[in-house]
Amino acid sequence: MGGRAERDACPGALRLHEAADGPLARIRVPGGRISGAQLGTLRELAAAWGDGHVELTSRANLQLRALTGVPETRLADRLAAAGLLPSDTHELVRNIAASPLISGRDAGLVRELDEALCADAGLAGLPGRFLFAIDDGAGDVAYAADVAALRLGTGGAGRFAMLFAGRDVGLRVGRATVVSALLTAARAFLVQVEGAVATGARRSWRVRELTDGPGLLGRDTARALDITLGEVDPELRRPGVQEPIGVVPQGDGRVAVAALVPLGRLDDRQLRVLAGADELVFTPWRGVVLPGVAPEAADEWLDALAGAGLEVGAGSRWVGVTACAGRPGCAKSLADVRHDADAATVAGDGLPVHWVGCARGCGSPAAAHVRVEATVGGYAVTVRSGSSAGRVSDGETTGNSTARSAGDGTAGGGTGQSGRGDATGTGRSAGGDATDGSIGTGDGGTTGGVVRGDRLARAVAAARRGSVDGSTAGTREG
Ligand code: SF4
Repeated sequence: MGGRAERDACPGALRLHEAADGPLARIRVPGGRISGAQLGTLRELAAAWGDGHVELTSRANLQLRALTGVPETRLADRLAAAGLLPSDTHELVRNIAASPLISGRDAGLVRELDEALCADAGLAGLPGRFLFAIDDGAGDVAYAADVAALRLGTGGAGRFAMLFAGRDVGLRVGRATVVSALLTAARAFLVQVEGAVATGARRSWRVRELTDGPGLLGRDTARALDITLGEVDPELRRPGVQEPIGVVPQGDGRVAVAALVPLGRLDDRQLRVLAGADELVFTPWRGVVLPGVAPEAADEWLDALAGAGLEVGAGSRWVGVTACAGRPGCAKSLADVRHDADAATVAGDGLPVHWVGCARGCGSPAAAHVRVEATVGGYAVTVRSGSSAGRVSDGETTGNSTARSAGDGTAGGGTGQSGRGDATGTGRSAGGDATDGSIGTGDGGTTGGVVRGDRLARAVAAARRGSVDGSTAGTREG
C-alpha cells in the first residue's frame, strides 16, 4: 500500500478528532454560507462545551475545539436542529468551495450541488479531502479544487470550464449541466481510485494524486456526458486573488461588507456581532462577508465589526498573515505559533505569510508565500514558490494534528484592504488551502536559516519583500 495511510480520518461533526486540547468538530459549510442564526448556535455550543471560539478553516468550514464532556449525539442533535447537519452519511464529503461574492443564478449552484451530492449514495465514499468548487469567474477557488466549474464570461446562461486539479482539459458545459458534470467527475474519480487500488496501487485522496488524474477524469467525464473535448485554453491559470474587504458593491443596489478574522478565530464577542447578520459568507482566506447589506447600513456594520476586533482596513498588520493551530491545540507543534505570530507580525506588504508549528505545513497557501516554520531552535523563514495550477490543499483545520487525512491547515487572516468603505482586494494569491499533511510543496524558494526573538519580525518582513536577508533570516540567534 505504499506506506500511506489507507484510512480517511478527516474530522467531522459526527467523527470528532482527538486534538491535543480535546475533541475537535468540523462543520461543513458549503460555499462558506451560513445564516446568522446558525452561527449563533455555534457560538452557544462553543461557549457551553468548547473553548468559546469558532475557527475558520482554509475551506471556509467551521470548527469547534476542546469539546470536552459533550456527548456527540447531543452535539449532532443541536447541529442538525440548526440545519448544519443535513446528512449523516455525507457530512464528511460536503466540501464545496465557492467564490465568496458569487451572485445571481450562479449562487444557487452551491445548494443544488450540495443537495445532489447528498442524494447520491455512492458519493458518500468520496474522501473527506475531495473538494468541489464553483467559481464565478474570479478564479479565486477553482484552481485549488479537485473538480471545479469556472464561469467563462459574464451574462446569459453562461459557459463553464471544468477544471480538474486546477487544470483545464477542454471540457465546457452550460450552467444547466454544471452540477451533473461535477458529480460525474467525482464518480469517475472514485472509479479510477478503486480500480487502481484493486491493482495494488496506493489509494489516492485527491485528483492530483492519480497518474494523469486531470486528463483521465476529463476524458471520463466528457464521455459520460457525451461531450466532445475542445481546445485547452492556456489563459486559464490561477490569478492573483482580490479578496473582498470593506464595502463592496454588489451590482444590485446593495453592498457586501467584508472583514478579515485575525488568525481565523472568532471569539464570543465577534460571534455575537456576526450572528446579528441575516447571512454570512466565510472565505477560504479566513475572511467574512456580509452580503446584501443596504448601503446606508454599511458604515454601521463596519463600525460593529471593527469594534469587535475584526479587521476592515487596508493597514491591518494581519493582511496576508495566516497560521496553523500550533500549541496548545496540536500535539505536533513545536511552538505556540499564534502567540509568536501575534508578537512578530507588523503591517507590511508583499508575499502572504503562513506560520506553522511543524514541517507538516498544514494550511499552506497554494501559491507563493513565506513560510515561518517552528523548529527546535527557533523559526525557519523560507520563501516558497507556488504552483501554477494549483497545489491545492486539503486544507482546513486549525490546528489539529490529525494525520495526513485530516491534514488541514489552519487559519489566518489574510486580506487586504484599502481604507474603510472601499471595495478592494488584497492581491493574495489564490488557493490557500491546506496541505495533505505532507510538507508543503510548491517550494523551491529561498531558504533562510533559523531565527527567533527580535530578528524574527525583520526576517519575515524581508522575506515578504521577496528576499531573505541573510543577516537576519540566515543566522541562528542565540
Ligand atoms: S502544521 Fe499541522 S501538524 Fe504541524 S503544528 Fe501546525 S497544525 Fe499541527
